[in-house]
Amino acid sequence: MDTTNPTDGTGARSFSKQHVIDPEICIRCNTCEETCPADAVTHDDNNYVVDPAKCNFCLDCISPCPTGAIDSWRVVRTRYSLDDQFGWGELPAQDETQNSEAVEAVDDEAGRLIADAHRGTGGKSVAPASAAKPQINLYNRQRPAVATVTGNFRLTASDTENDVRHVILDFGDTTFPVLEGQSIGIIAPGADESGAPHRMRLYSVASPRDGEKPNTNNLALTVKREPDGVCSNYICDLKKGDRVEVTGPFGATFLMPNDPSANILMICTGTGSAPFRAFTERRRRAITDAPGRMMLFFGARRPEELPYFGPLQKVPDGLLRKHFAYSRIPGQPKVYVQDLMQAKADELGTLLKNPQTHIYLCGLRGMESGVDEAFSAICKNSAADWPALLTDMRAEGRYHVETY
Ligand code: FAD
Repeated sequence: MDTTNPTDGTGARSFSKQHVIDPEICIRCNTCEETCPADAVTHDDNNYVVDPAKCNFCLDCISPCPTGAIDSWRVVRTRYSLDDQFGWGELPAQDETQNSEAVEAVDDEAGRLIADAHRGTGGKSVAPASAAKPQINLYNRQRPAVATVTGNFRLTASDTENDVRHVILDFGDTTFPVLEGQSIGIIAPGADESGAPHRMRLYSVASPRDGEKPNTNNLALTVKREPDGVCSNYICDLKKGDRVEVTGPFGATFLMPNDPSANILMICTGTGSAPFRAFTERRRRAITDAPGRMMLFFGARRPEELPYFGPLQKVPDGLLRKHFAYSRIPGQPKVYVQDLMQAKADELGTLLKNPQTHIYLCGLRGMESGVDEAFSAICKNSAADWPALLTDMRAEGRYHVETY
């Protein structure tokens, strides 16, 4: 047993991330052992293994590994010892992968932010059954990844006060794997009024797992400049070539299903569109003729303030059905996403009854109650029981909320 594992202060072991090697994929080429600067990798006649007491998560071993066996991780209460690992014929199952408490608690600061953003799910979040397994907590405040800004473009019209930016961060040679729906952490340089370092802020990844352009080691963010906001102003002011410290990736449940027959219903306001841009691009690139449908309800004050308004017009309806709700067009009644949802009650009622349907809400916290009321009314219309359906969808990883 490994006695160096941290405890939560009550003597109970808290969760930690452990670097392991997949014995079924490893070809025993010794590259990782030669590469590891901490001498954490060792081997016997059976397996190559990572010593948890020595591994400092530098990730130097990841890219030289020819098979990817080295890029394996487990979130554990008690770390696997060297003897445990020498005996493996296959990796032990990650029991906790679907358990947000376990996975997201590893970085306390990010874990609290994610748990707060997901509390609208009304309980423990569960990832969709067919979602790919995310990497999380690879970089933290003490050991951040450093990315270079390669683009910073305004997404909203210049005559509006609402400044939302598309920011591209390139990771160069650094491994920073993300899945659609995950977030990254950014800590603005400097200190707050009390002299303490700024708190970490989370930003959803707006590009798919293979990069802003296919097969690039970069990602995009959609960031709204908040009045006097510490981190959003820092990000929105970044220039091409600036270097940014990044933590994460974070989030193990707000993920898209890989199943091509899954219907994905996305409801958002403002920068809540970021993960849905990633979902849509993923489907477009990886599953071109998916039988599952994608539908977007997107609320903004007016078209000029709706991030990605222009590019969204060009996304074909066959890939993504789009419904825009505007609440501040002069001379027109205010329309919110829940109003548009009710206007599509028949279609949504049919979708809700389909066990392949996944629902995602992202954006302003204030949208949650209106959306819930809309689902309730839609269900009443089609003789379905919304509270019961919601409970089932949550338990099955088909209902996801990320609001902030
Ligand atoms: P802060 O400095 O935190 O301030 C926020 C606002 O409060 C400002 O308007 C500020 O003026 C006001 N304020 C601060 N202190 C006080 C005070 N004492 N009294 C009165 N007012 C005060 N944001 C995005 O733009 N894009 C995303 O994709 C995105 N994704 C997110 C994903 C998750 C999971 C979470 C949890 C959040 C996400 N956010 C996203 C929100 C983001 O993390 C930040 O909260 C946001 O950018 C504001 O941070 P800030 O440092 O700029 O503002």
